[in-house]
Amino acid sequence: MNSVTISRQADDFSVFDVDRIRADFPILQLKVNGRPLIYLDNAASSQMPQPVIDRLVRYQTTQHANINRAVHYLSEIATTEYDNARCKLQQFINAREDREIIFTSGTTDSINLVMHGYGRKFIKAGDEIILTTLEHHSNIVPWQMLAQEKGAIIRVVPINDQGELDIDEYENLFNERTKFVGLIHVSNALGTINPIRRMIEYAHRYSVPVLIDGAQAAPHMTIDVQSLDCDFYAFSAHKLCGPTGVGILYGKATLLEAMQPFKGGGDMIASVTFEETIYNTIPHKFEAGTPPIAAAIGFGAAIDYLTTIGLDQIAAYEHMLLDYATAILSEIPGVKIIGTAAEKTAVISFTLDGIHPHDIGTILNQDGIAVRTGHHCAQPVMQRFKVPATSRASFAFYNKKTDVDALATGIKTVQKVFL
Ligand code: PMP
Repeated sequence: MNSVTISRQADDFSVFDVDRIRADFPILQLKVNGRPLIYLDNAASSQMPQPVIDRLVRYQTTQHANINRAVHYLSEIATTEYDNARCKLQQFINAREDREIIFTSGTTDSINLVMHGYGRKFIKAGDEIILTTLEHHSNIVPWQMLAQEKGAIIRVVPINDQGELDIDEYENLFNERTKFVGLIHVSNALGTINPIRRMIEYAHRYSVPVLIDGAQAAPHMTIDVQSLDCDFYAFSAHKLCGPTGVGILYGKATLLEAMQPFKGGGDMIASVTFEETIYNTIPHKFEAGTPPIAAAIGFGAAIDYLTTIGLDQIAAYEHMLLDYATAILSEIPGVKIIGTAAEKTAVISFTLDGIHPHDIGTILNQDGIAVRTGHHCAQPVMQRFKVPATSRASFAFYNKKTDVDALATGIKTVQKVFL
C-alpha cells in the first residue's frame, strides 16, 4: 500500500483516502445479517490488512522453524526474521536498544512480567503502589496480588466527571513509601488520554519507576519511550492490525537487568546444572520457551503497514471521526456520552436512557454494526459513573464518516424498538 497524505489542519475527511485503505482489509467486505459490516470494536481488537496476512502466509509457507536452536537453513531464517521484528518494534517506539523489547503474549502478560520480575523482587511490606481509577483490570489485579503477598498498599488516583485524572491528587499521593506507579496511557473505557509525560516526570522526582499500559495508545499516536522517559511500556499486536497472542514489554535495560525472570525454561538460561542455573542476558532472560515466532513476525509487518500510513496521519483522521461522532450522537435525545475529556482518542462510551447496553449491542448487531457492551474490563470506571455497563463505539483509521451515520441511525432504531 502506498503512503497516504493528510493535512493535519484540515477538518476535511476527503484528505485521507479511506477507501484506498479499506481495500487492504478483506474482512471489511463482509456482510453481517445481510448488511455490510460496520466494525466499531477496534479498542477490543483491530482488523488485519492483506500485507500482514500475506506476511504470515509467507512465513508459514517458506520460513517456519523453531528459532535460536539450530544451524539449519529454516531455523536461521526464522531467527533472523524474529530478530528483525524486534528491531521494528524498537524503532516504532524509539527504544534505545533492541534488547529493551521483550516479546510477550500481550499487554496482560507484559504487566504480569513486571509484577513478578520487578514487583516481587523490589516491593516490600508497607510500600505503596499508585494506580488510577481508569486502569484496565490487567493493570489492577496483578498489583493487588502483589500487595496481598507483600503487605503493600495500593493508592488510587481519582477522576473527575469528564473522566480525566485529578493530577493534584496524583501528586499528593507521593511520599517516601511510594515505590511504583502503574498508569494507563489511554483509557479503553472512555478514550481519555492521560498527561503521562508530566506524571512520569513527577514520579521520577521521587525515584519511582513508572509502568505505562499503552494498549490503547500505541495504535493511535506516535510513541517515543526515550522522550517520555517511562520505565516500562506495554502493548498488544492485535490492537495494531497484527495477530493475537503477541505483544511487547519495553523496559529500560538497567531495570530489566536488575529484575528476576518471570518464567523459567528453555532459552532464558546461559547454563543449567542441578546445583545452579545462570540466566541468559536480556531480552532472552524473559522469553522462556518457544516464543510466538509467527505472530511476532506478523506484528513486525503490522508495524510496517501502520508506519507507512503514518501514526500522526492516523491520529489526525481519527480525531475528525471523534469530533463528528461526538457531535452527531450528542444530538440524539436520550444519548449520554460517558467520558468527555478534553484529550481523547476516538472512543465513544454511551448509555441510552431506559435501555440496557446489552440490548443496544444486540439490535445494532442485527444491522451489521459491531460495538462492545459491558464494563470493558474497567469496573472501577463504571462504579465511578454509577453505571453497570456502557455501549462503546471505538474507531480506527479504516472507519468512514458514513459508519458514524450508520451508528446514529442504528441507535434511533434501538430507541424505536425499546421505547
Ligand atoms: N490494557 C488496556 C488499556 C486494554 O484496552 C487492554 C485490552 N482490552 C488490555 C490492557 C489487555 O490487553 P490484552 O488482552 O491484549 O492482554
